[in-house]
Amino acid sequence: MTLRKAKGYIRAWISPWSDQKLAEVYAFNADGKMDIWESCNCIRGVVLCDQLHIGSAGECGIAHYSQSAEIPGATEAEFSYLELGRTRIGHHSGWGKALAQRRLSAILRAEMRLRSRRIAVELSPAEVLEVSK
Ligand SMILES: [Zn+2]
Repeated sequence: MTLRKAKGYIRAWISPWSDQKLAEVYAFNADGKMDIWESCNCIRGVVLCDQLHIGSAGECGIAHYSQSAEIPGATEAEFSYLELGRTRIGHHSGWGKALAQRRLSAILRAEMRLRSRRIAVELSPAEVLEVSK
């Protein structure tokens, strides 16, 4: 999978999220808590967590991850997240948690910007001034 394609899948995955979910995952990711090898704090698991948390501790077990399989695009999102962190040095490839977090952060920020611009277009100039006070 190319990085470009991966970003597209991630954008599709996050687009149905509520503004609140988007903001929460953004903050969670900015705190360095998103990972790929754990169940509830991965790109799939976060969707079903009301309270974002690390690992599979707590009442959910790994349910947040496993139940997310029913959401269309779950597998693509997971493989895409893997791609976000892939590092290539010559013939060697590895995985960088920080790299994946930086890239996810950029995608989430872009989605939030897009949404706020959409709201601005729906409002009259006077209303925009009102909400931006
Ligand atoms: Zn959970």
